[in-house]
Amino acid sequence: VMHHIISDGWSLGVMLKELGEHYEAQIEGREEEEGKELEIQYGDYAVWERERLKGEIVKGEIEYWREQLKDAPALLELPSDHRRASIQSMRGATERLVLPANLAEELRALGHREDATLFMTMLAAFETLLYRYTGQDDLVLGTPVANRQRVETEHLIGLLANTLVLRTRFDGDESFRQLLQRVREVTLGAYAHQDLPFEKLVEELRPERSLSHTPLFQVMFVQHNAPGGTMRFGNLKLEIMEAHNRTSKFDLTMFVEDRDEELAVWLEYTPDLFDAATIRRMLRHFQVLLEGIAASPEESLSRLPLLEPEERGQLLFEWNDTREEFDAEHILHALFEQQAERTPGHCALVFEDRSLTYAELNARANQLAHFLRSRGVRTETRVGILMERSVEMVVALLGVLKASGAYVPLDPAYPRERLAFMLQDAQALVLLTQERFAGNLPEHGAEVVRLDSGWQQLASESTENPLHTVVPDNLAYVIYTSGSTGQPKGAMNTHRGVCNRLLWGQRAYGLSESDRVLQKTPFSFDVSVWEFFWPLLSGASLVLARPGGHQDSEYLTALIRAERISTIHFVPSMLQLFLESGGFEHCPGLRRVMCSGEALPYGLQERFFARSDAELHNLYGPTEASIEVTSWECRRAGAEETVPIGRPISNAQIYLLDEQMQPVPVGVPGELHIGGTCVARGYLKRPALTAEKFIPHPFSAEPGARLYKSGDLARHLPDGNVDYLGRIDQQIKLRGFRIELGEIEGALGQHPLVRECVVLAREDEPGEKRIAAYLTTRAPQAPSTGELRAYLKERLPEYMIPSYFVMLEELPLSPNGKLDRKRLPAPGGARPELREKYEAPRNERERTLSGIWSEVLGVDQVGIHDDFFELGGHSLIATRVLSRMNQTFKAELPLRCMFDSPTVAGLAALLEQTPQEAPAAAPPSIATVSRDAHRRKLSSFIDKPFETGKSQAN
Ligand code: AMP
Ligand code: MG
Repeated sequence: VMHHIISDGWSLGVMLKELGEHYEAQIEGREEEEGKELEIQYGDYAVWERERLKGEIVKGEIEYWREQLKDAPALLELPSDHRRASIQSMRGATERLVLPANLAEELRALGHREDATLFMTMLAAFETLLYRYTGQDDLVLGTPVANRQRVETEHLIGLLANTLVLRTRFDGDESFRQLLQRVREVTLGAYAHQDLPFEKLVEELRPERSLSHTPLFQVMFVQHNAPGGTMRFGNLKLEIMEAHNRTSKFDLTMFVEDRDEELAVWLEYTPDLFDAATIRRMLRHFQVLLEGIAASPEESLSRLPLLEPEERGQLLFEWNDTREEFDAEHILHALFEQQAERTPGHCALVFEDRSLTYAELNARANQLAHFLRSRGVRTETRVGILMERSVEMVVALLGVLKASGAYVPLDPAYPRERLAFMLQDAQALVLLTQERFAGNLPEHGAEVVRLDSGWQQLASESTENPLHTVVPDNLAYVIYTSGSTGQPKGAMNTHRGVCNRLLWGQRAYGLSESDRVLQKTPFSFDVSVWEFFWPLLSGASLVLARPGGHQDSEYLTALIRAERISTIHFVPSMLQLFLESGGFEHCPGLRRVMCSGEALPYGLQERFFARSDAELHNLYGPTEASIEVTSWECRRAGAEETVPIGRPISNAQIYLLDEQMQPVPVGVPGELHIGGTCVARGYLKRPALTAEKFIPHPFSAEPGARLYKSGDLARHLPDGNVDYLGRIDQQIKLRGFRIELGEIEGALGQHPLVRECVVLAREDEPGEKRIAAYLTTRAPQAPSTGELRAYLKERLPEYMIPSYFVMLEELPLSPNGKLDRKRLPAPGGARPELREKYEAPRNERERTLSGIWSEVLGVDQVGIHDDFFELGGHSLIATRVLSRMNQTFKAELPLRCMFDSPTVAGLAALLEQTPQEAPAAAPPSIATVSRDAHRRKLSSFIDKPFETGKSQAN
C-alpha cells in the first residue's frame, strides 16, 4: 500500500477520504455500514486490461504512437554540470519557485484566450526553456495521466496511472502562441490515445536501451492540482507537508502545482547531472521567460528573454572588464629594438651550433630592413618568406617588420600550387628564401632574395635601426588558414593586436633573462609568433628546433635538456605523444608548458601533472585574433572534470551568443565571439568573407568596433570561466592543424573521375581522429586510392590528405534529400586498394613488423610494399609505430626512417643493417652527455630532402 501511495496521488486521495470517513464514524460512535464492497478490485482491472491489450483497438493505438514518435531523438541533451554516468543512480533533489499571483493570473488568461489549459500553457513554456537551453528543435517529454476515466475505477486503490509521451517540434521563428496551438494538438492527441500502457509502448517501439538514461524521454512534466487546502477529520486537522524522497527517476521533472492564486513550480533533478545552483538558475530563467511570454506571446520563441538584468550585465560587461593600460604606440619591432638596447650582449638566438646576441641579431635584421626599403617595401607591403627554421628565418621576420612591411610565412613543405596561390593572393613584392629552395620556387612575381647564399648583396647595408612609419593598425603578418570554399584565406593581423597579446603574456607569465623559449611550431601557424617574439621582447633567449624536429619526441627531449629550455608550447596531441615517450621525466628544467590549438583533455592534464612539476596553461584563440585570447592555468588536484579555456586576456572580450546575437545564460552553449584589441583586420582581399566573420560589435559604444565570429561552441561556467565545447561547422583540428573539410572536398571534387564527395573527420577509435573521404565516381573506371592521394598531394598540405578513401555507389540521402552523414559507413579495417599489390611478409622480421603496423593502424592486412601513409598513417602514428619497432627489435631507428622507407620491406632491410644495440638505451641517452656530443648526435639527423615534403608535417 505504501508503494501505491507514493506512486499514485489518486490512490492517496481515495485512501485519505476513506480514512477520514472511518475516523469520523469511530469518533461519533456511528455504526459503519458493513460490506460496502467495491464493484471491482484492482485484480479485476488488471485482468480486464490484459484482455484488452490483445484486441484490435490496441493495434490502432500502437500505430498512432509509432507514427507520432517516428525518428524521434533518443536523448534530450541538457547542458549539465557533470558528465552522464554510465548507470543512473536515481538520486534526486528538488528546487522550488513560487510564481507571483499576477504572473499566474496573466498566464491563466493567456491560456483562456488560446483555448488551452494551464497544463498546456505551462508545458509549452517549459518546452520553450528546454529548446532555448539545448537548441534541439525536436523535443520529447513524458507526462503522467491518472487513467481513471471509468466510473468503476474511481474508488480503486492501486496504480492505474500511465505515462504519455509528448513530442513537439520547434521553429525558433514561430511565436509562443503558435507553439501553444501545437502543444495543444499534441496533448489532446496523446490524451485520446492514453490507454496504451507505457511499458507496452516501449516493448513495441524497442528503442535502444541504456542504463545511463530512461527510454523515449528523460524529462517529465507534471501538473498537480493541490488537494483543496487543509482537510479535517472531525477535530483533527490534516495538512499536506512537502517532503522529498531524494530520488529522481528522470534527468529532470517539472512539477507545476496549481494553487488557488499562485503557481508553484518544482524542479526535481538528479545531482548526477546538475548542481543545485544550476537548477535555481534554470528556475530564474523560467520565470523571466514566463514574464516575457505573458507580456508578448507574439514574440518569436528565439527572442523571448531568459536573462535577468544582473546576469546579462555580468555576462556582457563584468566578465569582460579586462581593460589594461596599453600604450597605443606599441610596435612589434620597436619593442625588440628597445630590448636590444637594454641587453645587447645577451644571447638572443640559438640554432644548432650557431647563436647571436641581441645586438648581432638586431644589426642583421637592420641590414635586411634597409635593403627591403630600397626595394620598395613600405607599410602594408607583403613580403613572402619561404624558408625552413634557421637563423635566417628570424632575421627575415624582424627585417620585414623593420622595413615597415608585413610578413607572409610560406612553408616549403606545402605543395607548389598552394604556395603559388598564396604568393599571388598576398601580392608579395619580395620573396625571401634560402638557396636550397631557390631552384624549385612556385610560380610568383616577386623579387627573390636568398638570405643565406645571397647575403653578400646585403652586407654593405647599414646596421642602424631604420626609421619606420608603422602605426599600430598597420599589418604585421598575414597567416593563411584553410578555407571552407576550397582556397586558403589570409588573416591580417596588426601590430596593436600582437603587441597587446605579447605584453599581456609577459605580465602574466614574466619571462626573465634566464628563460629560454623553444621555437618549434611551424611558422605558418600563429603560435610561432609568440614563440619568436615573446623571448625577444623580454630579454630571454630563443632556441630554434631544427627543421622537422618538432615532431620527434626524442630529439626534443634531448634539445630541451641540452639547451635548458624553460618554456615550451605543445598542441595537446603532441603533448600526449611527448608524455608517452617519457619526455618529461628527463626535462626537470622545464617550468612552463603552454597548450593551445585544440581542446586539452582533462585526462591528459592529469597525466601531465603525474609526470611533471611544470605549470600547465591552456590558451585559446584563432589566427583571426592575434594568437590567443583566453587563458587558464591548469590546477593540480582540481575538482573540475574539464579543462576550461579560462577568461579573456587583457583588452579582449568574449561573448557567447545565440543565433539572435543575444548572450546565452551561464551553462548554456553559445557561439564564441571575440572582441577587443586583438581582433584582426579581416581576410586579405575577401571583403564578403570578412563582412560575414567580422561583424559589427553590438555591445560596444566604440565606433567601427567589430566582433570575430569564431565558429566555436562554448559555455560559461558559474565563475565566469569559459568551457570549450566544440565546433558548430565543418572545421576540425587534427593534431593541432586547422582544417576546413570543405577545402578537401573542393580539391577532391576537381578530380575528373570524382562525381560527388564528402569528407568527414571520424573518431572510430577514441583519440584516433582520421579524415575519411567518401566518393562516387564517374563509371566505369574508378581511380585507385593511391591515385587520389597523389592527386591531392599536389594541391593540399600533407596533414589535409584523407587517411581513407571510400568508394560508394551512391551517397546515402535522408528522406528529404539531404546527405545522411550517419549512414556513411565506418571505413573499416580492410586493407585499402593501393597502387601496390598485396605481398605477404617473407620472414619473421617482416611478419612482426607487419603485425605491429596492422595493430596500430587498425588495418587487417599489411603487405610488405604497402606505403605507411597510404594505409592511413600520419606522423603521430609513425612515432607510435617506431617506438614499438625499436622496442621489439631493441633498435634505435630515428623517426625519419618512417618517412624515407615507409614500407615493411624497407624498414626490415634497415633493421637488418643496423647493429642492434643491446640493451636498449634508456631514452634519451643524451641526458648525461656533454653539450658537444649532444650537438653531434643532433646533427646526425640528416636533413630531409625538401621534395618529399613529409618532414614538415606535425
Ligand atoms: P588556429 O587559427 O589554428 O589557432 O585555430 C583556432 C581554432 O583552434 C579555434 O577556433 C578552436 O576551434 C581551436 N582551439 C584553439 N585553442 C583551443 C583550446 N585551448 N581549446 C580548444 N580548442 C582550441
Ligand atoms: Mg590559435
